[in-house]
Amino acid sequence: MKCLLIFIFCFSTTIYGAEFLIKFKKSISKSAIMDFNKNREVENITTPYGGFTLLKSADKILSLELLQQDSRIAYVEPNYRYYPLGRVVSDPLFKKQWGLHNIKRTFFGSKQGADINVVKGWELTKGSEDVVVAVVDSGIDTTHPDLRDNLWLNSLEANGIEGVDDDGNGFVDDVFGYDFVNNRGLENDEYGHGTHCAGVIGASHNDIGIAGVMKHVRIMGLKFFSSNGGATSDAIRAINYAVKNGAHVISNSWGGYSHSRFLEDSIKYAASKNVVFVAAAGNSYSDNDFQPLYPASYKLENVISVGSMSSSGKKSSFSNYGKKSVHLFAPGSNILSTVQLGQYLKMSGTSMAAPHVAGIVGLMLSLKEGLTPSEVKELLIKNSKKSSKLKKRSQSAGHVDAYKVLLSL
Ligand code: CA
Repeated sequence: MKCLLIFIFCFSTTIYGAEFLIKFKKSISKSAIMDFNKNREVENITTPYGGFTLLKSADKILSLELLQQDSRIAYVEPNYRYYPLGRVVSDPLFKKQWGLHNIKRTFFGSKQGADINVVKGWELTKGSEDVVVAVVDSGIDTTHPDLRDNLWLNSLEANGIEGVDDDGNGFVDDVFGYDFVNNRGLENDEYGHGTHCAGVIGASHNDIGIAGVMKHVRIMGLKFFSSNGGATSDAIRAINYAVKNGAHVISNSWGGYSHSRFLEDSIKYAASKNVVFVAAAGNSYSDNDFQPLYPASYKLENVISVGSMSSSGKKSSFSNYGKKSVHLFAPGSNILSTVQLGQYLKMSGTSMAAPHVAGIVGLMLSLKEGLTPSEVKELLIKNSKKSSKLKKRSQSAGHVDAYKVLLSL
């Protein structure tokens, strides 16, 4: 399992196979589109803001350049693949979640270290079951004892008939969310990455394992990774599902260096529905101001880009940064959380930092309903804990402070 997780730890997008996303010109007739589609395997992807075409298998001579020259096409992109931004670093030897409560032992006693200051924040709110946080990732172990009580539950599907779209939302058996890799209701997470992110956001506050940033939450699991990353088309489907099915926050611990107008459009749609989009800044040790990583670097009102810090309060060595393009930092080194098969593991990456912030956004929304994504972002930056160790690394010049931001509401 460890090998698999390390295997999927990649930094950049690659063009996979010969799949393309195509937007036809508005002036093009249906018959002209049918003519284009003839003898080609295509899938029409409908979205609430207009559809597009996924060209699945093209003839050998068809290239991006040729498609770009086709007068029927407004714009076309390869169906880029994106990858998770976290990996396993050790076995769970330390049952300590420093990101939530970082006590440094010193010769003179103990002192508070760098953390997200959420234990104090819990005096103000521990979340709400009315807040839905979607995890767009590798899935979630829906049977994990530390997660199952906090999962989003589509009750019509849970009490419905197997094989039937009981709630009529276009997806069959989507009890906990949906698996866009296998086109079925979400069941599991072979890689553990999504389960890890889910645990950071909302592992149950019970007598076992760990505690999530939110005690009360509904976590929706949307799977779009397989062993070779996830396609843009599936990420878009997952984002649209989250928005249409009531998510307030989407946590995104994945990315790549390919800019996709199609992906950007789906995040814009999320913004139009007041959905906050928290994204990992990337693990390439680099400056996103100069080399943007997506989706974290889309300049949209609802995108919050999160870098990773270690328990010393410094930027994690691997973490991307950006004075303009990264908004703030959160714990991402050696984070203990839930993984598949009911287990726990420590993982590192901006993948682990993003769900800390997604959880805090969830706490903010449970305390003050109706905050807009711009307000959420501004409040997070304004109320972050400034730190000389993180100076010039992000817009906030510091790391997230749950107590401070909740107190400001
Ligand atoms: Ca359904």
